[in-house]
Amino acid sequence: MSADGLFLDADLGEKAYRSAMAHAVDAVLDARDDEPYSGATPDALAAELDAPVLPEDGVGLSNAIEDVAGDVLAHSVDTSHPRTAAHLQCPPMIPALAAEAMLTATNQSLDSFDQAPAATVLEGRVVSALADLFDLPSDADGVFTSGATQSNFQALLLARDRSLAEHLEYDVQRDGLPAAARDLRVVVSEEAHFTTEQAAHFLGLGEDAVVAVETDADHRMDADALAATLDHLDREGREVFAVVGTAGTTDFGAIDPLDALADAAAEHDAWFHVDAAYGGALALTDESDRLAGIERADSLAVDFHKLFFQPISCGAFLVRDGAAFRRMARTAAYLNPEAHAERGVPNLVGKSTQTTRRFDALKPYLTFRAVGRERLGALVDATLALADRTAALLADADDFELLADPSLTTVLFRYRPRERMPDAAVSDLNAAVREALLADGTALVARTDVAGVTSLKLTLLNPTATLDDVAETLDAIRAVAADVEAAGEVSP
Ligand SMILES: *Cc1c(COP(=O)(O)O)cnc(C)c1O
Repeated sequence: MSADGLFLDADLGEKAYRSAMAHAVDAVLDARDDEPYSGATPDALAAELDAPVLPEDGVGLSNAIEDVAGDVLAHSVDTSHPRTAAHLQCPPMIPALAAEAMLTATNQSLDSFDQAPAATVLEGRVVSALADLFDLPSDADGVFTSGATQSNFQALLLARDRSLAEHLEYDVQRDGLPAAARDLRVVVSEEAHFTTEQAAHFLGLGEDAVVAVETDADHRMDADALAATLDHLDREGREVFAVVGTAGTTDFGAIDPLDALADAAAEHDAWFHVDAAYGGALALTDESDRLAGIERADSLAVDFHKLFFQPISCGAFLVRDGAAFRRMARTAAYLNPEAHAERGVPNLVGKSTQTTRRFDALKPYLTFRAVGRERLGALVDATLALADRTAALLADADDFELLADPSLTTVLFRYRPRERMPDAAVSDLNAAVREALLADGTALVARTDVAGVTSLKLTLLNPTATLDDVAETLDAIRAVAADVEAAGEVSP
């Protein structure tokens, strides 16, 4: 048995680490080319990725890295490419990539202080800075998460348990759900992310516990409709335990009227959660007033792996009153014995739905420190400005139909080459265009349905992308659409 060059031990290990990291970095840089994607199909990839996963004898790190470069990196989405603009999948910033290297090499685990001393304290400092950024009070607290799925889940968990404790003196953590949980309801806008429904399922409430409120012409929750929904639920004898606002919906980037939602939640003694996974980054900019009301949230979800340009995974769950975490408190003799709490040793295991947990807080920390609020805000501003200019470009084009003025950095549109083209044909054409673009790899755009018609979406998260890049994407759409139409794949 030889472990030489496989661990970070004094001599051989250090050399091997340096050389492995350098090789990995070269492989990443060499794999980048002119196109966002190679266009490989699932079948082609299945055929290509056929090397034995666990060979009896290893091929050596250099060979394995070369294989990954050729078979995997070459067929990965180039998230740093200026024509990659499909999903909320950002180009990762270089300071965060450096942080990622440090946090994985040191392998701290945030569940207990003795596994991550400085990391535990630093995560707390980053959480405080975030609470300040969103104007939460000084007893706010929080924890890093894998993203808004986990953050939204945790919000509804605390909200559900608080409601049953305060209204029925019931301890869910100990006793599970009472029969009265059948009447619990959470309200969200009809454009909200599916993770509220998913959380309701996971929390034993069922997806039908989620009540969707109508949105206005700008896709924001309609405050009157919210009031009517809450009254209706009251009359039906339901217990609304949470009002969830969205600051930045996935398609339109719409920001709910958070102040009105905070009022409604307060009036009904419901927990007010804000899903700011996407729009939270506005807090870095001069447009932070568009988030007005977020400072009244009982909890909020922010994702750094979206408009904060951090590599996946990186999110945070913030709570207005840190004492709320007591509802998921946990003590384990091996991690955080009660004696620790008495001595003030911070063990974060009781704040998370995870046990072993990554030191993801280092990524925004290093980025914030290195770049500063002003410059980071300017990067967010650049993406907002590009979305506006893209919308203007689409509005001016005869063959495109702009579907909404951008709120954040998404732009929704359809390719409609002939004015009188029926919606069904437009749907087919745009769906085929999206498929053809992925198969071609020149530009990556997303598809979604708007008013029942298949539409295209650009999610602009790259501060280095220009209007020329967008114009090239539109040309690529025209080109593949011409091919699709010539092949007779859609009816005229
Ligand atoms: C991305 C997103 C989610 C899901 O978050 P993950 O980070 O993917 O777990 C939830 N809500 C909104 C509004 C989002 O943008």
